[in-house]
Amino acid sequence: MPELPEVETVRKGIAKHITKSKVLRVICRRKNLRWPIPVKSLEKSLPGQIVESVDRRGKYLLLRFQNGCLILHLGMSGTLLLLANKKKLRKHDHFELHLESNQILRLNDPRRFGAVLWEKNDPLEHRLLKSMAPEPLTRLFNKNWLYKKLRGRNASIKSLIMDNKIVAGVGNIYANESLHRAFISPNKAGKSLRKQDCGVLVMAIKTTLKNAIHCGGSTLRNYMSSDGNVGSFQLRYQVYNREGLDCSRCGQSIVCCKYNQRATYYCPKCQR
Ligand code: ZN
Repeated sequence: MPELPEVETVRKGIAKHITKSKVLRVICRRKNLRWPIPVKSLEKSLPGQIVESVDRRGKYLLLRFQNGCLILHLGMSGTLLLLANKKKLRKHDHFELHLESNQILRLNDPRRFGAVLWEKNDPLEHRLLKSMAPEPLTRLFNKNWLYKKLRGRNASIKSLIMDNKIVAGVGNIYANESLHRAFISPNKAGKSLRKQDCGVLVMAIKTTLKNAIHCGGSTLRNYMSSDGNVGSFQLRYQVYNREGLDCSRCGQSIVCCKYNQRATYYCPKCQR
């Protein structure tokens, strides 16, 4: 599933090509993905509009126009490709924006957990984004914030940093990797972290995400950047998908356990 680094890579990839481009038309081949696609509003609002910017909030992409904002989410299996001209349709090509200079932005999503939404007003006030925690790569996400959010929480620290109300955009892969970087056991109760542990974990999350963005994200099953390239951060994993292999720091074997079908990988020796 694309997490923040993959979505940020897609954002950067399309922003440089489509910002200031005019939308010629919109094609919706389905009425719904995770939620209904507002086909009528999109067909009425978008043609003739110029893409003012391509932003990101958590794992949502925000294509801003003068009259509103197109909100896109890649769900579990979505890819957003920018094509130079009309390429043959594939199965699951559900949505397209046709832009000037023969550019087509095409959303493919086999499992259909993605989203295409339209918001006339401030997208950050949209019901899906309004209560989202700070972006992890901003100063608002800091040890004081995390410490405050973990007070009284018995849940595991790993599940808590995957909660969008605590930090935006961190999923299973980057939660595992960040906790290893921070020397913190994923099974520890959130409330047991001291403020200084929160400081270490915040820095670990920021560094992990920045490194992953630098590598163009991770390519496992379903991710591709907007130009069809793949990311390479999976080659730098320290714990994820490394059950039975040696910890790069201490040599102990990495273990894997599953909660709620989510695989948790960690080093039992140096993550306490
Ligand atoms: Zn270790």
